[in-house]
Amino acid sequence: MEIIKNILVIDDDSSDRVLLVRSVKRVSGTIKVTEAWDMDTAETQLRKRDYDCIFLDFELGSINGLTLLKIILGKRLTSAPIIILSGVNDPVLMLECLRAGAQDYLLKAEINSTILARSIRHAKERMDLTHQLRYIAQHDQLTGLANRETFLSGVSLAISRVRRHGMHFAVFFLDLDHFKDVNDTYGHDVGDILLKKVANRIQSSVRESDIVGRLGGDEFAILLDDLKTKETIIEIAQKTLDNIGHTLNINGIDIKVTPSIGIALCPSDTDVADELLQYADMAMYYAKSEGRNKYSFFADEMRQLALKQSLIKKELICAIEREEFELLYQPQIEIETDKIIGVEALIRWNHPDRGLISPNDFIPIAEETGLILQIGEWVVAKACNQLQIWSSAGIITDQNFSMSVNISACQIRQGKTIDIIETFLKKKDFTNNQLVLEITESMLIEDIDRSVQALKKISDQGVSIAIDDFGTGFASFRHLLLLPLTYLKIDKIFIDKIATDQMGAEIISGIIAMAKAVNLKVVAEGVEHKEQLEQLQKMDCNRYQGYLYSRPIPIDKVTSLLTQQRSDFYTNETTHQ
Ligand code: C2E
Ligand code: CA
Ligand code: CA
Repeated sequence: MEIIKNILVIDDDSSDRVLLVRSVKRVSGTIKVTEAWDMDTAETQLRKRDYDCIFLDFELGSINGLTLLKIILGKRLTSAPIIILSGVNDPVLMLECLRAGAQDYLLKAEINSTILARSIRHAKERMDLTHQLRYIAQHDQLTGLANRETFLSGVSLAISRVRRHGMHFAVFFLDLDHFKDVNDTYGHDVGDILLKKVANRIQSSVRESDIVGRLGGDEFAILLDDLKTKETIIEIAQKTLDNIGHTLNINGIDIKVTPSIGIALCPSDTDVADELLQYADMAMYYAKSEGRNKYSFFADEMRQLALKQSLIKKELICAIEREEFELLYQPQIEIETDKIIGVEALIRWNHPDRGLISPNDFIPIAEETGLILQIGEWVVAKACNQLQIWSSAGIITDQNFSMSVNISACQIRQGKTIDIIETFLKKKDFTNNQLVLEITESMLIEDIDRSVQALKKISDQGVSIAIDDFGTGFASFRHLLLLPLTYLKIDKIFIDKIATDQMGAEIISGIIAMAKAVNLKVVAEGVEHKEQLEQLQKMDCNRYQGYLYSRPIPIDKVTSLLTQQRSDFYTNETTHQ
C-alpha cells in the first residue's frame, strides 16, 4: 500500500467517517486521510491537492453520491479512483455507479480493513490501466504527441474559450518537405527516428501550454493559444522553421529536412475546428508551391482555389467516362529542311459547360488524384492509334518522324501505360523509336534511380525518350548520360531570350553543344518569332516547335498538312526526274 499516500473521504455522517478512517489506518498507518462532508468541502479539498483514492458516500444529504460523482468527473476535479460507499445492496445502483466512472462499490456494513485494502488496490490498478489506455488512445505512439482526435478536441476547447473570452489563437499545419525520400533512401527506422527528433524540435519551438500533435505520416499540427499579435505568430513560425531546418545526425548520417507550414487563425478565418485544420492545410500546400521551407497564412483565395479544384476533381471522373478529352497536335519542324518531322500530342478537355480547358488547369489535379493513369492510358492509346493510321495510309514514310506524348512520373512507375505501348508496338506498322515519351526534367530528377530503371525498360522496347522543359529543373550532365534519351527539349523561357539577350543566347548555344556531344537531338520549344528561328539555325539546333509555324491543331488539320507535305514531296520528285 506504499503507493497510496493520500485519501479523501466524503461522507456527511461523522460516525461513518470515523469508522472508515479507523479501517484505513489499519490498512496502513502512514496513509493521510482528509475528510469532507458535503459538495463544497469536497470541491475545496479536491482543488487543493491530488489524492490517490477517494471514498464517496452514496447518501450524501440532499444531493446523492451519484450526482456528486458525475460533477467531480465532469469538472475534472480528480484523476484518482473513486470508490462508492453505500448502505444499500442494490446491483442496479452499483452498475449505474460503475458506469458513471466509479471504480468500486462497497457496502458500509461489510467494510473491514481487508476488504478496504483489496478494494483500494484493485481500484488503483483499474485506474492506472484506464489512464494507460486513455494515454494510448489520445497520443501518437511514435512521438508521444497528441494524436489527431486529441488535437482536434484541443482545438474545440480553444474555440469555446474564444467564444467566451474573445481571445484568438492560431493553428499551424506542418508537413516535412521530401520526407518520402528519407524513408526511401535510409529506410523506415531512420525515418521514424527523424520524426521523433522533429517532434522534439517542434515542442522546443513553442510554449509548454501549446498543443503539438502528429496528424499522421510526416504531418504535424500546433495550436498556439492566446496570441496577441500577428508578429508573435510570424516569430514562432520562423523559429519552428529554423529549429527543424538544422541538420540532424541519425546513426551517423547527416540528414537535413525542412518543413512547410500553413497557418489558420481563429476566429478571423473560421471558428470551426475541422475547417481550421483544413484551411491551415491549404495554406501549407501554398507554402509548398512557393518553394517549400516556408510558412504561409491562409487566404480566402485559397478556399476558392480549393473549391474549384475539388469541382474539377469530381468532373474529371465523369470526363473520362464521357470521353470529353481530345488530342491536338503541334507540328515539330526540322530546321534544316523546313519540313514537319514530328508532332506533339497535347490534351484538351472539352467541358460541356465551360468549353475548352487547358491541361495546365487539370493535369496537376489528375496527377494528385491518380486519375492521370486512366487519362494517360487514353492519350497513349489515341496517339499510337493515330501514328498507326498515318503509317498504314502512307501519309508518313520518314523513319525519323516522331509522335510525342507527354507522360507523368506515376505513369512510368505504373505498368499499364507501358503494357498499352507494348501491345501497339507488336501490331504496329510504324517504325521503332517513332513513338516518343516526353518526361519533364524535374520529374526525372525527383527519383532518378527509379526513372533510369523504368526508362531503360521502355527504351529497350523501341520507344524514344525526350527530356521535356529542359533548363527548368536541375538536371546535370551526369543525369543526361545516365538516362536513355534521344531528344532534349529546351524550354520556352530560354527561347524567349535568344534573340534579345546575349547571356540567353549563350546558354542555349551551350545546351545545344552539350546535347550534341552526347548524341541527343535538340528541339527548341515555344518559337514565336523569325529572329529566334534564325538564331537556332546558326546554333545548329535540329528541330523547333512553336506558334511561328503552328499552334496545336486538330487531327484533320494536321493530317492535311502532312498529306500536303507528302504530295509536295512527290511533285518535287517528279519534277526532278
Ligand atoms: P509542354 O509539354 O511543355 O507543352 C508545350 C506547351 O507549350 C503546350 O501547352 C503548347 O501549346 C505550348 N506552346 C507551344 N508552342 C508555343 C509558343 O510558341 N508559345 C507559347 N506561348 N506556347 C507554346 P499546352 O498544350 O497548354 O500544354 C501545357 C502542358 O500540359 C504541357 O507542357 C504538358 O506538360 C502538359 N500536357 C499536355 N498534354 C498532356 C498529356 O497528354 N499528358 C500529360 N501528362 N501532360 C500533358
Ligand atoms: Ca511536352
Ligand atoms: Ca515542354
